[in-house]
Amino acid sequence: MNSFSNEFPVLRKYSYLDNAATSLKPVKVIDKMNDYYLNNSSNVHRGIFKLSERATEDYEKTREHIATFFNSEVNEVIFTKNTTESINLLSYSLSHDLNENDLILSTIMEHHSNLVPWQFLVQTKKVKLDLINLGEDKVNLNYVDLEEKLKKEKPKMFSFTHVSNVLGTINNVNEICSLCSDLNIKTVMDCAQSVPHMKVDFKKINCDFMAFSAHKMLGPTGLGILIGKNSFLNEMSPFLLGGSMISSVQKESFKTAPPPQKFEAGTPPIAEVIGFNESLNYISKIGFDKINSLEKSVHSYLLKRITELNSIEIYSNIENSTGVLTFNIKNVSPHDVASILDEFNVCIRAGNHCAQPLHTYLGIKGSVRASLYFYNTKEDVDKLIEGLKKVEKLFIQ
Ligand code: PMP
Repeated sequence: MNSFSNEFPVLRKYSYLDNAATSLKPVKVIDKMNDYYLNNSSNVHRGIFKLSERATEDYEKTREHIATFFNSEVNEVIFTKNTTESINLLSYSLSHDLNENDLILSTIMEHHSNLVPWQFLVQTKKVKLDLINLGEDKVNLNYVDLEEKLKKEKPKMFSFTHVSNVLGTINNVNEICSLCSDLNIKTVMDCAQSVPHMKVDFKKINCDFMAFSAHKMLGPTGLGILIGKNSFLNEMSPFLLGGSMISSVQKESFKTAPPPQKFEAGTPPIAEVIGFNESLNYISKIGFDKINSLEKSVHSYLLKRITELNSIEIYSNIENSTGVLTFNIKNVSPHDVASILDEFNVCIRAGNHCAQPLHTYLGIKGSVRASLYFYNTKEDVDKLIEGLKKVEKLFIQ
């Protein structure tokens, strides 16, 4: 019996190993959202009545909590729909400062969310986009090439992932951001895969923007967060236009509200924001030290047991990882592997994990990904291995 199964009932039946796609949500988070809908349902920043004032207070409390949790100013925290929307907001709002032939640098290990919005600027603004490849080990970035390109080619911006959703690689963000800051290059960090697993300190890392989704860190879907330095947010143009993001509107013109409201047009995901406060409470109560030690022991066990398979090819980072194992069983389609594992109630991901350029670079069409979180156990690994042995038995020989 999984000791977390009271908080995460899915674990009573399933070995949930698709945490890089989305995490499970504890009962407390769901209760908090239910409580808002049942007892406090109202819009925020509008009503002069108790319900709305309470909802607004709870909503803004989460913003304050996020600012403390990630060490930013409260008005640097913007609520969006997800990581994807946070990065789209940036690519749109920052594009006004970009000119033809300006260079945007990114990496081959990006999720499509941190690639396609910049590719769109190549089409529409005629900027250039260059990607840093992996080093010889094929799991870490080529840091020599990165440093050279940052220094010699003077990109306007470096947009990169903190942790790869395929390789599990934890990029060296402190050094990267420090160098970019010295060279006056804007930094955008995709933190979708890092924030569930480690403390991310916005001010200490000194990036200019960081984007992530609540749903990967025990929070609800439909809520993303963008944290950006005030100096940039003040100057940037708004992304979506309408109610809530204005300070005044005349017949033919409007004035924007200051950030963060400037970037939060329309009714926001109120229940989700209020619920997310409980996700942060939950993570703080366990603490990242415990989260990491639980993940590490199951990850080590997984790496040990995976050697029992004869036909496995591993692509993910073994040493410098958040607990992601990406692999193929030779000559077996990842989707067939996923279907067989489903018979064992083991949930994993098959495909290109929204990182098609990385798969092409690695010379494969797709892969299977098992991604851990602190509530996974060695029994989950046992079930995974049992399922994979069945795959080998059925498809190989
Ligand atoms: N970036 C990375 C590294 C991701 O892993 C993901 C989600 N798989 C995203 C961005 C996109 O997140 P969302 O779908 O919540 O916008």
